[in-house]
Amino acid sequence: MHDVLIIGAGPAGLAAALWCDELGLDALVLEQAEAVGGQLLSIYNPIENYPAASAKNGREFLALLSERLDAADFDLWTNTAIESVDLKTKRIVLQSGEQLQSISIIIATGVRRRQLGVPGETEFAGRCILESATRDREQLAGKDVCIVGGGDAAAENALLLADVCPTVTVVHRGRTLKARREFTEQMVGHHSITIFPESVVTRILGDNEVEAVEILRKDALKPFQMAVQAVLLRIGVEPNTELFREQLTVNEQKYVVVNGEHETNVANVFAIGDVANPLAPTISGATGAGATAAKVIASRLNRRN
Ligand SMILES: Cc1cc2nc3c(=O)[nH]c(=O)nc-3n(C[C@H](O)[C@H](O)[C@H](O)COP(=O)(O)OP(=O)(O)OC[C@H]3O[C@@H](n4cnc5c(N)ncnc54)[C@H](O)[C@@H]3O)c2cc1C
Repeated sequence: MHDVLIIGAGPAGLAAALWCDELGLDALVLEQAEAVGGQLLSIYNPIENYPAASAKNGREFLALLSERLDAADFDLWTNTAIESVDLKTKRIVLQSGEQLQSISIIIATGVRRRQLGVPGETEFAGRCILESATRDREQLAGKDVCIVGGGDAAAENALLLADVCPTVTVVHRGRTLKARREFTEQMVGHHSITIFPESVVTRILGDNEVEAVEILRKDALKPFQMAVQAVLLRIGVEPNTELFREQLTVNEQKYVVVNGEHETNVANVFAIGDVANPLAPTISGATGAGATAAKVIASRLNRRN
């Protein structure tokens, strides 16, 4: 019997675990991936907005966090696949068959990038479908790129690539870009950037490498093809709530709904970080929520707080 089972080892889950250690709670963190860090592992830009620490990218930030983790005393299982969770009884069954039991559960499963769900996406994943313009900028020099999405992330990536790529085609569903004005003003005048509003990418085409995307414009009867050698998808994120969303109150986008203590509608089940924060996901928000949940649990169990 553990005091707390924490699902997910991104900034939220790790902060919660550090606080559990400080408060004398017995915590076990379950992480499905091989490594901890969550989205930190895919941040290639500098992190300069976390109070009292900055880093040149997410991995450097994770290294700072890891110094604290090494000194703390809690259990962490990576590569751990969960088969089922019963939130009411706080029982978790792993795919290995092992059963875990706790007094409280903290859900810290974060979000993942939304996928397009079109032919070619899986086939070219990790090759011609880019991870990050910051990371891949040099190898993309001289290539034609298609960016799908109309928000800040799409716009920022388009501007990063526009000076090294002959053409950057931005395809988005909306009538106007949702990105902040600072970005859109630069994009509209840029000689390399072409914007297709009210349009969707319906296929990513090519043999061994991406050769083209198929674009369907609203009101057009047929799609047309545009030659590109790489694609970047920035169409938002979705919460990792499939495991338990039937047992909890979630909002329309399937994010977990919590109160001011980060508790869900199920007693002693908490949700922290991006999985419960659709409007303002940040590292500081995630770590702060981890602290709150751990302190609430400790006070209910009459531990130090
Ligand atoms: C490119 C990029 C740049 C960013 N820049 C900044 C920035 O400058 N400043 C800032 O404050 N924020 C930034 N963010 C946002 C920040 O990274 C997130 O707000 C933060 O990582 C959220 O932490 P989290 O722990 O809630 O979720 P995540 O980081 O998403 O971690 C969730 C963890 O849960 C695990 N998990 C999911 N499902 C399961 C399961 N079923 N079982 C076990 N484990 C599971 C995942 O594998 C992952 O490790 C950026 C994000 C991105 C993608």
